Amino acid sequence: MVRMMAETKTTFWILGNQLLANHPLLEGVDKTAVTILFIESAARVQKLPYQRKKLVLLFSAMRHYAQELQAQGFQVDYRAAPTFLAGLRAHVAAYQPDELLTMAAADWSGRAFQQGLAAQLGLPVTITPDRQFLVAQFNPYPDTPPEKPIVMEYFYREMRRHFNVLMDDRQPVSGQWNYDKENRKPLPAGLPLPAVPVFAPDAITQAVMAEAAALPGIGAPHGFSLAVTRAQAQAACADFFAHRLADFGAYEDAMTVRHATLFHSLLSPYLNIGLLEPLELIRAAEQAYHDGRAPLNSVEGFVRQILGWREYIYWQYWRQGPALLALNEWGAERPLPPFFWSGATEMNCLRHVIHRALEDGYTHHIERLMVVGNFAMLAGLKPTAVNDWFLACYLDAYEWVMAPNVLGMALNADGGRTATKPYIASANYIHKMSNYCAGCRFSHKQRHGDDACPFNFLYWNFLIRHEAKLRANSRLGQNVLGLRHLDEAERTAVTRRAQQFFAAFDSEAVG
Ligand code: FAD
Ligand code: SF4
Repeated sequence: MVRMMAETKTTFWILGNQLLANHPLLEGVDKTAVTILFIESAARVQKLPYQRKKLVLLFSAMRHYAQELQAQGFQVDYRAAPTFLAGLRAHVAAYQPDELLTMAAADWSGRAFQQGLAAQLGLPVTITPDRQFLVAQFNPYPDTPPEKPIVMEYFYREMRRHFNVLMDDRQPVSGQWNYDKENRKPLPAGLPLPAVPVFAPDAITQAVMAEAAALPGIGAPHGFSLAVTRAQAQAACADFFAHRLADFGAYEDAMTVRHATLFHSLLSPYLNIGLLEPLELIRAAEQAYHDGRAPLNSVEGFVRQILGWREYIYWQYWRQGPALLALNEWGAERPLPPFFWSGATEMNCLRHVIHRALEDGYTHHIERLMVVGNFAMLAGLKPTAVNDWFLACYLDAYEWVMAPNVLGMALNADGGRTATKPYIASANYIHKMSNYCAGCRFSHKQRHGDDACPFNFLYWNFLIRHEAKLRANSRLGQNVLGLRHLDEAERTAVTRRAQQFFAAFDSEAVG
């Protein structure tokens, strides 16, 4: 709880991704003694050509949240400004606060900006701890140097023990930590897929949609149907628990041309701006298991994503520090091809996934990792360019979550600090886990030749090119085992096809 002298004029600056129902700055506060400040910064939203539906989500959720605080009796100063600093200065000039309090930003640049504010504004600034992550309450591996690999599985087990999630004393319920083997099923043809709830835009959202349409960016605000209040986010969450959680585990890795969401939750956009909190989702999933509404493989799979991966990713981001953004372990320097911005490619899987990212800002994890990330890694696309593409396109993208996922997990640009090995695969994986290949002009079976799937020759070309490096590392060595099935003629054919592909690709690529 934050205490203030009765006569002190205090401002709380709440960031757009800190829309917590129980915001720590607001706990037990005298509503008449504080002003709550929100700023929409024009410079921030033009840093990249962002997904317009994400801008609508963010600004509509901020405006609804501010309106709810006003209805509760708080004084709110909601302003649009050219930059955050300009907005803060204008607020200070208008309201003359004695002090400013703000919760720590989730990313480095935001936090550094907050740390410099006292000097910039000429008044005391207090930065309170970030309350949006569980690892801030319990860090299983404090003070580990960034180069020391910490495997997510062990991090996750410590988190489960500490927060007592799906535990039976010190052991996991049913004696098993991991149900990954049960959670890799392809989707049976014709299995009905539940619709995701839609929320009709109200007047506030419609106004933001009109503004977003005029901003530079990707996609159209038209068709926006996401939750923009906590009540709506809770409804989206309840729908997931009622209709999708039970099958979440089995089809977690499946992909289909039919549907973007399958049995995934589509809750990351809300979690990442504070409308939902991780522990409430974890406890609700646990309850669903205890009530017999969902099987353990699904519940554990979902808990693993939030208590495991999400917290681990945030922890990696802060452990690795800003140096992460410049890492490029595999020396990948190729610029993004134009089809990343249009979806105009004959590769059926990439075409579908890129279209979804550009139009709606959402694809599920395996499509991010094993379609886009896999292609980017095999094609040697520049990590910073790939990171910016994801940051621009996705609804749930923020630097703390994007950098370790893209640079660490998908591209292995950090040399294995986040994920122990590169996530690379030939067309065989995509064919097994999806129905994309059935409608593709390329053959998922051919390794080379005009009709060969690019994932095939690029995969083998990558292994040939990096064979010595892969073999030298015991964690990566198993990737190259398949090379023994390729004779010299096949190696030459694969390499030649990859060179042709790159020649065409490079002549069209944009920086
Ligand atoms: P579900 O499959 O339903 O999973 C439940 C929740 O688990 C998610 O909502 C999310 O909060 C959490 N989660 C699962 N995996 C991760 C992970 N690796 N990192 C962080 N949280 C995780 N997630 C983002 O929130 N923002 C991003 O910008 C983002 N970019 C990604 C880029 C790449 C290349 C990859 C491989 C993953 C990325 N992820 C990102 C992680 C993950 O893909 C998304 O969180 C997930 O797909 C969101 O959809 P969902 O809510 O339906 O997730
Ligand atoms: Fe993708 Fe290759 Fe399958 Fe086509 S054949 S859908 S490019 S994996």
